[in-house]
Formats: sequence, structure tokens, C-alpha cells
Amino acid sequence: MSFIDTKRNPGLSITSVCVYCGSSNQALQPFKQLAKDVSTALAQRKMRIVYGGGHVGLMGIVADAALEAGTKVIGIIPEHIRAQEVQHMGLTELHVVPDMHTRKRMMVERADAFVILPGGMGTLDEAFEILTWKKLKLHNKPVVLFNAYGYWDHLVALIDHAVEQGFEQPSVRAYFKVVTDMNSMFAALESQEAPPMPPITGRM
Ligand code: AMP
Repeated sequence: MSFIDTKRNPGLSITSVCVYCGSSNQALQPFKQLAKDVSTALAQRKMRIVYGGGHVGLMGIVADAALEAGTKVIGIIPEHIRAQEVQHMGLTELHVVPDMHTRKRMMVERADAFVILPGGMGTLDEAFEILTWKKLKLHNKPVVLFNAYGYWDHLVALIDHAVEQGFEQPSVRAYFKVVTDMNSMFAALESQEAPPMPPITGRM
């Protein structure tokens, strides 16, 4: 059962958004502001936030902003990094799980869509996992890459490179939307449709 009254989200089928983002406190201030603005905007649309459960870096900012704006925040954190990522003590729900794989699976299960903010290796891992799971048809939920200040330009270029070199099919580009502002983010979350099934070729 959804925590959110979907009637308050007319025309929008998503009520729960998983936010992937960096855990580093050293992130530059514009990225911290972005995390706050994105989370506040999602909360104002009555969307529940699902994230990694920590109180560090952009993750902590996302959680604090969403709680402050009055929405529910679900954190999922593995036992062995509770101290490292400073488990958030004020969440609506905090699930302590045995390992990273359980965390990542639960985050995917509990979200209707995914927003990827700037982050480091962990965020990259999560971004690629959600895209490869989409490619493997393990889910078909919207994935939005928030390319603030060109942070993800290299990632987009790398995926284009993989297509150009024959390691990915062009259809992979339909698995995610790249946005640079809040309105585009909501448009992508609201409009994204299931990508066409990739053709089965000798390469696959
Ligand atoms: P980062 O982008 O590296 O700051 O990490 C962001 C989030 O990804 C944090 O919650 C990390 O716990 C998580 N993370 C870090 N390393 C990994 C990994 N190897 N696999 C999956 N998640 C990770």
C-alpha cells in the first residue's frame, strides 16, 4: 500500500522516488544545493523518498530536505556501513539489512522511479545497476540522470562511445533521460514510457 495519497498527484503514476547520490561531505556547494532543491521539489509533489539511509554528503541533505518538506523518507542501510555513513536517526522508516545487495534490491523494489544526482563510485554502481536491470527487463521504471553543471557529461559520452563501438545497442539511450533542470526532471518522471524491446541479434 502506498504511503502517499495518489489523488494528490493527479496525472502522475509515481509516488515513490529512489534518489541515488554521493555520500561525500566534500562535494562542492552547488551540488549540495542541488540535492536540497531536488529533494524539496519531490517532497512538495508528495513523493516519498527512498535512499541509502545515511546522514552524510548529498544523501543526508536529500533526507533532511524531504523530511523538512513533510514527506516520508525510507532509508535502507547495510549493517556494516551504519557507522561509516552515519545512519540517519530521524527517518520515517530505516531498514538495516545484511548486505549491499539486499539494500540495492530493496531500494529498487520500493521505488516507482529513480533520480541519479551527482556522486562517486557508489552512485555510479547504482546508476549502472539500475540501467542494466532495465536492460535485462528486471524492471521498467523511469530513470532520470540529473546532469547538473555537466557533472554527468562524461558518463553520457561513455555510454555513447559504447554504442558507437558496438558494445551497446542504440536502444540503450531510451533507458534513461538526461535532464538539467527541475521542470525537465518532472517531465521525464511523468512522461517516460517503456523503451521498445531491443531486437535479438547475433550479438546478444
Ligand atoms: P558514493 O557515490 O561513492 O559516495 O556512494 C553513494 C552510495 O553508494 C553510498 O550509500 C554507498 O554506500 C553506496 N556504495 C558505495 N560503494 C558501493 C558499491 N560498491 N556498490 C553499491 N553501492 C555502493
